[in-house]
Amino acid sequence: MKRSGIKGKLARLVYERDKKCRRCGRMIRLEIHHIRSVSNGGNDELDNLALLCSHCHMLAPDEPLEFYEYISVPVPPYLEALYVYMKFKHEEEDEKALLDFMKVIWEAESVWEKERRLSESDIGGD
Ligand SMILES: [Zn+2]
Repeated sequence: MKRSGIKGKLARLVYERDKKCRRCGRMIRLEIHHIRSVSNGGNDELDNLALLCSHCHMLAPDEPLEFYEYISVPVPPYLEALYVYMKFKHEEEDEKALLDFMKVIWEAESVWEKERRLSESDIGGD
């Protein structure tokens, strides 16, 4: 788990601005994420900080372009449910396998979403 170490007034400003997870909108287990990670030269400026829930935080990229792409894709609720189930099954020790598994699911999800949009445009066209 990445930890931002942002505290006090700055943390409050991030919470007041974002109010909920910037990716999924959840309002529980919120953490502060560095959009550009400190190890990549990111700083503690407000613009470089974003509120994410612990789940979205764990999967968040540490580079700005990838981050904004990451938060622009909506998370289907059943994937969240599946994630919780898998996490429960694997506990913490197999985090890597779990993340690989989630990537496969998301990949399938995006293909499904594209096909759904295509079929909708077929029906709706005149
Ligand atoms: Zn989230």
